[in-house]
Amino acid sequence: MKTYALVCKQDEPSVIIGQQIRQALDKTMNYDEDNPELVISVGGDGTMLHCVHLYENQLDQVAFIGMHTGTLGFLTDYQKDEVEQLIQDIQTKDYRIYERELLNIQTNLCAYLALNEFRIENNMRSQVLDVSINNEFLETFRGNGLCISTPSGSTAYNKSLGGAIVYSQEGLMQLSEIAGIHHNAYRSLGSSLILDQSHTIHIESQNFDNAVLGIDHLVYDLKDVKYIDISIALQKARFIELKQVSLIERLKRAYL
Ligand code: NAD
Repeated sequence: MKTYALVCKQDEPSVIIGQQIRQALDKTMNYDEDNPELVISVGGDGTMLHCVHLYENQLDQVAFIGMHTGTLGFLTDYQKDEVEQLIQDIQTKDYRIYERELLNIQTNLCAYLALNEFRIENNMRSQVLDVSINNEFLETFRGNGLCISTPSGSTAYNKSLGGAIVYSQEGLMQLSEIAGIHHNAYRSLGSSLILDQSHTIHIESQNFDNAVLGIDHLVYDLKDVKYIDISIALQKARFIELKQVSLIERLKRAYL
C-alpha cells in the first residue's frame, strides 16, 4: 500500500502514538487523507466506527487497521504497547484483507450504513413498532426499542441486551429487543432472532415522537420517517489482517 491516513482519538496517548506512526510511515508511504489505501485508527472501538463512517463513500478503495489506546478492543488488533510492531508489520509483512459485514438502513427519507448496529430507541415513552420480515407481519413490539446488529456488533450493544455473539461474517443480522414489555396484554418474541441476507426487516410506527435512530456512534432524529427497512448491505468494510487475534481471544480478554 502506498497511501495512508491516520484517524486519532483526541486524547493525549492517542495523539502521541499517532505522531510516532506518522513519523515512521512517512519514510515509505504517502500521507493522503483524501484518497488513502490504508486508514489507521488510533483510539477505541468508537474511533474505528468513526473511521469507517468517515470513508463510507470509498469503502471499495480503503482498508482499515486499528490500534487500541485503551484497555481492550474488538475492532482493533494492536495494543498501545505495540506501536513499533504495527509500524514494522505495515512496512514489511504480507497482509490478508478480510471483510466486515455492514447493514443497509433505508427509510422513506434517507439511507445509512452501520458497522455495529442500527437502533431505534425511545426513553421517554413506550415505543410501539410493527415488525415485518420479507413482507410477512411478525409482531407489534412495545418497549424501549429494537436493535439490529451485524456479526461485528454482536459483541457490542447487542451483547448488553442479552443477544448472542455471532462468530461469523457470513451474511447474518440479529434482531434484539430493548426492554420489551411482555405480559398478558402485550407480547413480542422476547428472544433474539438471527436472519440472513435473504431477509429484509421492515419497521413501521404510527408515532416516532421522542424516538431516535442510532447508527453505531451516531444518532439521528426520526422526524417525518414513516418506515425503516434493514437488510445486509452489498458494501463491506475491508480490514487488513497483519496479526491474528481470534474472537475467542478477544472474548477471553474482554469478559472472562
Ligand atoms: P464508546 O466508544 O465508548 O463504546 C462504548 C463501548 O462499546 C466501549 O466499551 C467499546 O469498546 C464497546 N464497543 C464498541 N464496538 C464494539 C464491538 N464491536 N464489540 C465489542 N465492544 C464494542 O462509545 P461510542 O463511540 O458511542 O460507540 C458506539 C458503540 O458503543 C455502539 O455501536 C454500541 O454498540 C456501543 N454501545 C454499547 C452500549 C452498551 O453495551 N450498553 C451502550 C452504548 C453504546
